Amino acid sequence: MKKVVVIGAGPGGLSAAMLLAHRGYEVHVYEKAACVGGRNRCLQLEDYRFDLGPTFWSMIHLAEEQFASIGKNLHEYMAVTDLSHMYDLYFADGEKLTVTRDQAEMSQRLATQFPGNEHGYQQFLIENRERMRALTPILRQPMQKWRDYIQPEVIRALPKLQLTKSLANELTRWFSAPNLQLAFGFQAKYLGMSPQECPAAFSILAFMEHEYGIMHVRGGLNQLSHSMAKIVQEGNGYLHLQQPVQQILVEQNRATGIRLANDEVVDADYVIINEDFAQAMTEQFAEGVLKKYTPEKLAKRKYSCSTLMFYLGIKQKYPDIAHHNIIFSDDYEQSLQEIFGEYTLPTSPSIYLQNASVTDHTLAPNGHSTFYILAPMPNNVSGADWNETQVEHYRQWIFSRIETKLGVKFQEHIQVQAVITPNDWQKNYDVYKGAVFNLSHQLTQMMTFRPHNQFEEIEGVYLVGGGTHPGSGLPTILESGRISAELIQKSHEG
Ligand SMILES: Cc1cc2nc3c(=O)[nH]c(=O)nc-3n(C[C@H](O)[C@H](O)[C@H](O)COP(=O)(O)OP(=O)(O)OC[C@H]3O[C@@H](n4cnc5c(N)ncnc54)[C@H](O)[C@@H]3O)c2cc1C
Repeated sequence: MKKVVVIGAGPGGLSAAMLLAHRGYEVHVYEKAACVGGRNRCLQLEDYRFDLGPTFWSMIHLAEEQFASIGKNLHEYMAVTDLSHMYDLYFADGEKLTVTRDQAEMSQRLATQFPGNEHGYQQFLIENRERMRALTPILRQPMQKWRDYIQPEVIRALPKLQLTKSLANELTRWFSAPNLQLAFGFQAKYLGMSPQECPAAFSILAFMEHEYGIMHVRGGLNQLSHSMAKIVQEGNGYLHLQQPVQQILVEQNRATGIRLANDEVVDADYVIINEDFAQAMTEQFAEGVLKKYTPEKLAKRKYSCSTLMFYLGIKQKYPDIAHHNIIFSDDYEQSLQEIFGEYTLPTSPSIYLQNASVTDHTLAPNGHSTFYILAPMPNNVSGADWNETQVEHYRQWIFSRIETKLGVKFQEHIQVQAVITPNDWQKNYDVYKGAVFNLSHQLTQMMTFRPHNQFEEIEGVYLVGGGTHPGSGLPTILESGRISAELIQKSHEG
């Protein structure tokens, strides 16, 4: 029986571990933290429970398929709600748009609020259905070598992807109203990018929501990681929490195992890295082992933005605030320029507010709520000093802005709160430069140009998670787990 070691129990690592543990491998997951999930873990503050990171989950059928491939029914592990009211958008000019799961209702809403744009919406759906069909084979197979590009389905797909055009530009074909260009373009932030730098192909991000919906899981999306961890242990898999890996051991360019921080050596036939990609490259190999991903070369790569987070436990219910809300910056272009162009702190950042208690009563005590607040910030290339004064400045600015734009009062009802700054992401969560959405997704860092699932530099090493193909975001991260698991199987099964 082949033995596999997985470094990190984030969703990418758990996906690969779960599949392999049910396909005849002995799998050992070593996780530095005291709990599973990585950025997809649960954050508990007194009686309130939050998702630390991901809150939007789309394309759940990919996960259902993955679970089913090892005889598991995802819905026996998680209670999933398909949100009919997907999100509310608050624009700078005071307009508010409710985005619904029902496309006919959405079309009607657009016809009323943005007359004429409902036709663009229909066209957006038609063209992106086609684009999604074209892109799927690329996202679902390894892109290891140049010859992967000359497979017929990839060649057919490439022209549909408009890879050299920007998303911002692409959206003007469907929507004349600037607010709608925002409504269908802000999803670039999921990749930690601006719509200007994000390739047009990523119009599929908004499409995914409109076509496949946005799911909430009772107890939070962290339940996805908890479920996968359970399934790992139901198979031939073992979780080792609070066991940081110190180094991957390499002999004659092949991984032979790992050394833990407590100096214990664990032999393995395969090593899967789920730790943040660039962070792992900087700390998991002895000096001189890597040639392509040296610290200097890693520093030249482009990374996503970071986030400033507030998690609030509140002694009030807010039934009139949607589950997901986005309050756009008063000057969206300027805030993008500050975050992505100049790496300076934004004057008026956009804000995402999740009021999950409106859907899920298990997250807070009766009559109470959890507010999860995210503001995009430059990654730590900015050199920003996230001292208490800086955090306090944003706390006051962001909280007041939410109160003004949504017409609610919550500050005097806060019972408990936590904050995570870009520096904290780097120091406490091992995220390289605090770039929480990983390597960014411009053409030069996608597909074959992204670090490969079967690691290019050392044999026996595989990558999973947001830093490898097909990319950052839960659906693609789960796919990275499936792709790497299958590559491992193929490597000795032929
Ligand atoms: C604030 C935020 C919001 C997000 N929102 C969304 C969203 O709404 N939808 C979406 O699809 N995606 C979202 N994402 C992106 C993405 O889905 C998550 O970041 C996801 O958790 C990344 O998974 P991963 O498997 O790449 O790695 P991670 O979740 O980072 O897991 C890596 C694991 O490796 C462990 N580790 C690190 N070093 C070591 C070591 N030396 N030894 C052992 N273990 C180690 C870490 O502790 C961690 O558990 C969001 C991310 C963030 C941060």
